[in-house]
Amino acid sequence: MEVTLLGTGDTTGTPTPGCDCETCRRAVDRGVERSRFSVHVRNERTGESLLVDTSPDFRHQFLGHDVGLPDAAVITHIHFDHLDGLGHAYRLFDRLPVHAADERDPETGESVAETVRRRYDYLDQVEVLAETPFEPFETCGFEVTLVPVDHPPLVCYGLAIEDPETGAKLSISGDTTYGVGADARAVLDDPDLLLADGIVTADLCEHHPAGGNHFDDEGRARTFGTKHMTVEGAVALGEDLDAAETRVVHVSHFLDADRAFEEPLAVDGETYSL
Ligand SMILES: [Zn+2]
Ligand SMILES: [Zn+2]
Ligand SMILES: [Zn+2]
Repeated sequence: MEVTLLGTGDTTGTPTPGCDCETCRRAVDRGVERSRFSVHVRNERTGESLLVDTSPDFRHQFLGHDVGLPDAAVITHIHFDHLDGLGHAYRLFDRLPVHAADERDPETGESVAETVRRRYDYLDQVEVLAETPFEPFETCGFEVTLVPVDHPPLVCYGLAIEDPETGAKLSISGDTTYGVGADARAVLDDPDLLLADGIVTADLCEHHPAGGNHFDDEGRARTFGTKHMTVEGAVALGEDLDAAETRVVHVSHFLDADRAFEEPLAVDGETYSL
């Protein structure tokens, strides 16, 4: 399993257009970027690849990294930064199977699969496949399982991607607070690599109207506001799940510049072989 982190940023990315903060300037100086979230997972046995989320930076990501176009996609939730690149399917694909959860979201009245199907109804290439959370499905030679996480007010899903031949396992938290349920954690457990949403460091919770939540024994918030983990929360989730390695993704430019590029915060283009 060859994993390429195509997009490791939050919804505005780093650098953020029009921003001259120290973190954005240092990203330019270092020649690194955190574009909107997407992960490319290649199965070296079958030659197929799976894309987790279709970033609005799709074109830029596929031109800038040495990866082939995917054979299938999975969508975690319907926020702009995870879905709105799906329009790139036009003319690039004859057919693109897109897997998404089938549970009705009380907020939208539709499942993620239904929203994706409705929004991309004009693209014949997009074939939406509705999947039931906790029930593994097969794609690209992988076994993939969606699990609900905590990203109010919308439903959102984390996922485990496993190669049944090699035993390699990648877990992705999705956009979520630290309040991931025990049944979802059981599916994500014990991965070779965890990609965990950690949008800012815990000290920045004082700037969020809702503050922090899910405090650890030392009083550090593992959840920032109501929708995302802190960096500390992402690392803690990796420890809880006994991940062999954790990379923190969905990182914002609001981090202090001196901490924004420290370990284990990911930047675009990192590759992992599981
Ligand atoms: Zn900035
Ligand atoms: Zn989101
Ligand atoms: Zn997001």
